[in-house]
Amino acid sequence: MLSGIKKIQLFIIFFLSVITCDLKAWDFFVYHTSDVLPEISVKSIKPFDLYESKIKTFFFKTQEMPCSFYSGKISVSYSKLKQVSGIDNRVYIFVVPGEFSGKGGQLKKADGEIVRYVFVRENCSAAEFCHELCHAIAGLGDEYGGNPAAYPENMRKAKGKTVYPNLTWYENDFYEWKDIVDTKKYFSGGVGYDNGIFHAYENCLMKDLSQPLCPICCFYLQKALEKY
Ligand SMILES: [Zn+2]
Repeated sequence: MLSGIKKIQLFIIFFLSVITCDLKAWDFFVYHTSDVLPEISVKSIKPFDLYESKIKTFFFKTQEMPCSFYSGKISVSYSKLKQVSGIDNRVYIFVVPGEFSGKGGQLKKADGEIVRYVFVRENCSAAEFCHELCHAIAGLGDEYGGNPAAYPENMRKAKGKTVYPNLTWYENDFYEWKDIVDTKKYFSGGVGYDNGIFHAYENCLMKDLSQPLCPICCFYLQKALEKY
């Protein structure tokens, strides 16, 4: 038989473990305009599938989205977005009617809080949704170019670092990737610039939605997801 004190101790341990488990989650706040709940799923994309049980989804119906359309393109209203609370384990997902390419990122507020956000259209694919989540959760940068200009020197940090963990301005042998990559020659292009910025693998979801995430992006995404 357990003594009264032992029972109380066990109850406290159980209670604390329930609370701790409860905190270990990512909260997806999904805002939508339609009556039908949007289909938001990460289970078909690796490594998001491993974290499905750590994601709690909350739906909110609204007609007020922090964005507008300009020349057929979505334009995010950052002033409106700054009004929401920047809770670290929360991602704001806006499912907007219309045709546009998704957007995702992290918005720094004056008080130091970070708002993680994703804008996707109603019929967007799981691959596109996960690509945008990578921007919002792990701060990954796009691995495609497009602009023939070089990545600006004033955006470079010390020792090859950029603000994006999956991009470097070194052409080879970036020290932060040595334990993750088995290649020493990188591929040119990133965050819309063709030159002066490099990614580690030829193919990646951050470059092409038909591809899986490369090992570098997987590493940094899992590191971020495992915070909660
Ligand atoms: Zn990648």
